[in-house]
Amino acid sequence: MSKQPVRVRFAPSPTGYLHVGGARTALFDWLFARKHNGTFILRIEDTDIERSSEEMTRGILDAMTWLGLHWDEGPYMQSAGFDQHRDAVSKLLESGHAYHCFCPPELLEQKRKEAAARKTDFKYDRICLRLAPDEVKRCLENEQRAAVRFKVPDGSVSFEDAVVGEVTISSETIEDFVLLRSNGQPTYHVSVVVDDIEMRITHVIRGADHISNTPKQILLYRALGAPIPVFAHIPLILGPDKTRLSKRHGATSVMAYQEQGILPEAMRNFLALLGWSPGTDQEFFEDDELIRAFSLEGISKANAVFNPEKLAWFNAQYIARLPHERLVPYLKPEYIKAGLWRDSLEREDAGWFRSLVDLYRPRAKVLQDFPKLSRFFFLDHVEYDQAAVDKFLKDEKVRGYLRTLADRLEALPEFSHHSLEAAVRSLADELGVKPAALMNPARVAITGQAIAPGLFDVMILLGRDKTVKRLRI
Ligand code: GLU
Repeated sequence: MSKQPVRVRFAPSPTGYLHVGGARTALFDWLFARKHNGTFILRIEDTDIERSSEEMTRGILDAMTWLGLHWDEGPYMQSAGFDQHRDAVSKLLESGHAYHCFCPPELLEQKRKEAAARKTDFKYDRICLRLAPDEVKRCLENEQRAAVRFKVPDGSVSFEDAVVGEVTISSETIEDFVLLRSNGQPTYHVSVVVDDIEMRITHVIRGADHISNTPKQILLYRALGAPIPVFAHIPLILGPDKTRLSKRHGATSVMAYQEQGILPEAMRNFLALLGWSPGTDQEFFEDDELIRAFSLEGISKANAVFNPEKLAWFNAQYIARLPHERLVPYLKPEYIKAGLWRDSLEREDAGWFRSLVDLYRPRAKVLQDFPKLSRFFFLDHVEYDQAAVDKFLKDEKVRGYLRTLADRLEALPEFSHHSLEAAVRSLADELGVKPAALMNPARVAITGQAIAPGLFDVMILLGRDKTVKRLRI
């Protein structure tokens, strides 16, 4: 199989939003396809009609687009292939790999209950396999409702999983599973295998929760005479308490992270290291490095632990490192949401905005921190934090100092970091106070807050006029 062009698929069921585990599977599929110049296919497995919805499908596409996982083919809807899936079942019936089952669901349910009472697993007892051919014919002619079951051959099924290694399952443990329900609906196993054959999938990279399905699916490939793809089952993701990741551990939907102000770059980098390791200490990966470094061999057998602090760390790293042309488009919607955006920030004030962004990079943990922390630059009226005012601006004498400082700054020949610092120091000397006794109140007067970036950086970005005006409090 390995000489064929690589074709992989991500096959989510649209019964919920794209969650962290699904996104990580999609990322591994995408990385593998990119690494091998292969094709990344998106297939929406909407065969559970009652639980699937278009809204969820749209949500999955949006989340993948946001994550930057662009697919080359699809989205294909699995339900569109029902006829082909049914044809495959007919072929399996013809070739003797499958048989009709007329057992009423109530009877099966009763047997299942009896087995449970005996504390044993129920395995279909093959009653219908023993029906004589003319009896089957008669039942079908009487339009008796029939399911179709696969006839599991004796022996065992083995495969070499690219992550887990050799897996061998005895046929004893596999029941004659249903291929077609009595209502004519193909089951998951048939649809998946027929689609994977049809789409010429070479590598099935998916969550470890599917490993128990693989022996059945391999039996289907064999019975249909199709080449068997490479299987790679990637480990589960656990929460920090080592139980399966769930809502108890925080957001599990990928889009919730977008809403929290996480960058897709950070999410990708973080997800890549959930269950995969480059074999070095490197943690920070641009996409092209990740594609180069990625391999199925680097995927761990052990379950991965989701650590939200690590994601926060990656986000801060990417906020600090992304070039402006990539960061600003992420910030624009946040400034719009905060009601602070103006188009000049992309035109005549673009240089000013870039400086502002740089000022806040070291302080921002999520995208929303930028408008939140820099709000005072955009408003005409300062929103004062009362505690900061009480602490630093209550004293009329201090306000007098700030008015003097305003006069000095107004008269400076140049409004630079150096000249501002010199002006503050010399005024503090004259007044016999420490520079901090001027700078702390000045910060509150200008920003409304006791905590802000370096005072002189703020003054320069705010500009002389506004600085002087705000100091005359
Ligand atoms: N539709 C299945 C799921 O969402 C995936 C099937 C597969 O990858 O084979 O879990």
